Amino acid sequence: MLLQLVPDVTLDGCALSGWHGDPARCRWCDAPARGATGWCSLACEDLYRAEHDWGAAHTAALIRDNERCTDCGHGPVSAAEARLLIRAFIPMTHEQAAELWRSQEWLALQLAFSVDVVHRMPPVQSYRSGCHNHQRGLVTLCRRCQDRTRSSIDLRTA
Ligand SMILES: [Zn+2]
Ligand SMILES: [Zn+2]
Ligand SMILES: [Zn+2]
Repeated sequence: MLLQLVPDVTLDGCALSGWHGDPARCRWCDAPARGATGWCSLACEDLYRAEHDWGAAHTAALIRDNERCTDCGHGPVSAAEARLLIRAFIPMTHEQAAELWRSQEWLALQLAFSVDVVHRMPPVQSYRSGCHNHQRGLVTLCRRCQDRTRSSIDLRTA
């Protein structure tokens, strides 16, 4: 069955795809597709996925933003850097350090610096494949800035 090989993509009105709807052409760039794959190349398939599939789009946005919060610039790297500085400038034994990294304060700091990719226009009802996952609609935010954004949205809708 030829039809089953063709990717299940709905590109109606997708602003990024160059596809004109010919099933024999690439769903992304409209060049002739290879066989019944629906794509001209793996690169085009990857580009499509990075803009539509939540998993691929999430990873692509993290790489684009260097795993740092686009609001305050912090990220997991900040916690790792802080850790190195503390070890370099504060004399402590191995055991003391191990205890510090296990402390509530340190875990809270690490949590605050953890980042995630969110949609710019919340609330999004589904994380399924679709144009709502375009890269320009995604942004990497740390937990602190996410909480701040969320509370300002709550205020607006209240
Ligand atoms: Zn292509
Ligand atoms: Zn932030
Ligand atoms: Zn799209």
